[in-house]
Amino acid sequence: MTDNAELTASFTELYGTAPEGIWAAPGRVNLIGEYTDFNDGFVMPLALPHAARAAVARRTDGQLRLHSTDVPGGVVSLRVDELTPHSGHGWAAYPAGVVWALTEAGHTVTGADIQLTSTVPVGAGLSSSAALEVVTALALNDLFQLGLSAPEIAVLGQRAENAFVGVPCGVMDQMASACCTEGHALHLDTRDLTLRQVPFDLAAHGLKLLVVDTRVKHALGDGAYAERRAGCEAGARALGIGSLRDLPYEGLDAALETLAAAGEDESVVRYVRHVVSDNHRVEQVIALLDAGEVRAAGPVLTEGHVSLRDDLRVSCPELDLVVSAANEAGALGARMTGGGFGGSAIVLVEEAMEDTVAKAVSEAFTAAGHAAPGVFPAVPSAGGRRIAPAA
Ligand code: ADP
Ligand code: MG
Repeated sequence: MTDNAELTASFTELYGTAPEGIWAAPGRVNLIGEYTDFNDGFVMPLALPHAARAAVARRTDGQLRLHSTDVPGGVVSLRVDELTPHSGHGWAAYPAGVVWALTEAGHTVTGADIQLTSTVPVGAGLSSSAALEVVTALALNDLFQLGLSAPEIAVLGQRAENAFVGVPCGVMDQMASACCTEGHALHLDTRDLTLRQVPFDLAAHGLKLLVVDTRVKHALGDGAYAERRAGCEAGARALGIGSLRDLPYEGLDAALETLAAAGEDESVVRYVRHVVSDNHRVEQVIALLDAGEVRAAGPVLTEGHVSLRDDLRVSCPELDLVVSAANEAGALGARMTGGGFGGSAIVLVEEAMEDTVAKAVSEAFTAAGHAAPGVFPAVPSAGGRRIAPAA
């Protein structure tokens, strides 16, 4: 599904009426600040050019009809007033969850025909799910004139994923998809959702940020996320603070000693060290970007990876291989991005080194017996928006 005219034609053929508009919402990579968003911490994602698009028309009969051009199978037909959390529906639970969250919040959605199509790789840690939620919420917000702001749309998408689909994610992915702007990374404080667009003009500095999709997803991921989350909460409790955000980096060593002395689990000590140091790394990277020292952010990215690998232990051999192969080939720095256990890594490189580094990573994968990774540049792109007027 390449252009909007095609999507319009496809929608019209499917539902027998033209869409009222087309909306888009991107996937994202996170530059720095991982597993910090459920600790009230800082994150710094940027939107990818890859995006989900939704062609949508309102209905007045309470029917919700959903179709994705990317999955086999026909239209999923549901009733708005019968949507129930955790009731299956496969991929359709993401857009249906948005409608449910809207009605739960007191908004009136009288039904809709929705066709989705996306260029965000699925399950690659690039937030194809958030893109789907945000694009659906954007479209319904416009069409039903609900007056929601971009951050409100993001929170609603998170609620859909947490409470309806049943995935315990933080708010970063939806905020990135809803609020990022072209040429910027988004400095987001997940405590109060204050945000700042930080200029991230890679081209002006002769740099590229590569995304390397390992194309693996280890099953371990789901349980591990909940375990890390519980461990971080236990750490905050033991330190007598509301969340790990409240522990300043300067107090980290003393806090780790306190935890160890209190007989806290060794894993909790490691998780606390990761979260507090990664919050600090977000601040370091922001200071570097603001000072125009983009190259110097590279080693901070690699430090973040080491912390995710050794302290949080959410990396995997494929992600570690991207980082080591890229850095050995002359990259400025690299790290896994997203939840880990597969998915994608990012690599900061000199423009002139892009091919050398990409080749080195691919060759390392071949030598290790892994399937070839997907490699593409992350161009900081626009967040969710309406892209076509009424057809
Ligand atoms: P990620 O968000 O990292 O890509 P998730 O597991 O959170 O991975 O979300 C992937 C799920 O989102 C898919 O399994 C599918 O249910 C849904 N999804 C994503 N993109 C599409 C699409 N284009 N069409 C239908 N469902 C999609
Ligand atoms: Mg997701």
